[in-house]
Amino acid sequence: MFNLILFGPPGSGKGTQSDKLVEKYGLKHLSTGNLLRQEIADKTPLGIEAKSFMDKGQLVPDEVVIGMVDSYFDQHKGAKGFLFDGFPRTVAQAVALDKLLDLKNTSIASVLALEVSEEELVKRLLNRGKTSGRSDDTNEEVIRKRFAVYINETTPVAEHYKKAKKFIAIKGEGSVNEIFSALCKSIDKKMDRD
Ligand code: ADP
Repeated sequence: MFNLILFGPPGSGKGTQSDKLVEKYGLKHLSTGNLLRQEIADKTPLGIEAKSFMDKGQLVPDEVVIGMVDSYFDQHKGAKGFLFDGFPRTVAQAVALDKLLDLKNTSIASVLALEVSEEELVKRLLNRGKTSGRSDDTNEEVIRKRFAVYINETTPVAEHYKKAKKFIAIKGEGSVNEIFSALCKSIDKKMDRD
């Protein structure tokens, strides 16, 4: 298997680039944000619990998200690899992911981190909010809260993968295709080496 994490703050372009990457490399796209929004749309108990956190810009509790990832694995047993998007978002989630992959005799090949300035991020999110129907993208206060959560809880995840020498920073500003090319270059280099 070949597994990648697409890492970066809210609005850094993970969703856009994920769609292109999964198509090119034949990976399963595992976006915890998308899975949670589907649970909300289906009005499941998990969705109802998650919504109260998401509307405030807070993280959904680790055990809820980890359980959801575990069942996604169960539903995609023959996958040739996964692209993780928006997960792991805490060190506890990263440790749990390492364990789940270990059970499948596989691991993370690379963590590709999209780097974008905060000013540009807020602009992109408020713009997305106009059309996406995502309530967490229409309120600047909720957006700022998500950045604060990202700094406090998610940046330590970068350290976790830096220690494992898996972390690769990619410039996340420029055209969609320029960023996609930069991501593919890193991925192809890694695939050639393995
Ligand atoms: P963005 O990256 O733009 O914030 P996402 O779709 O990845 O958007 O996430 C939206 C919201 O869903 C987050 O603000 C958070 O409340 C919740 N969420 C998504 N993934 C996770 C996760 N791995 N752990 C905890 N909460 C999550």
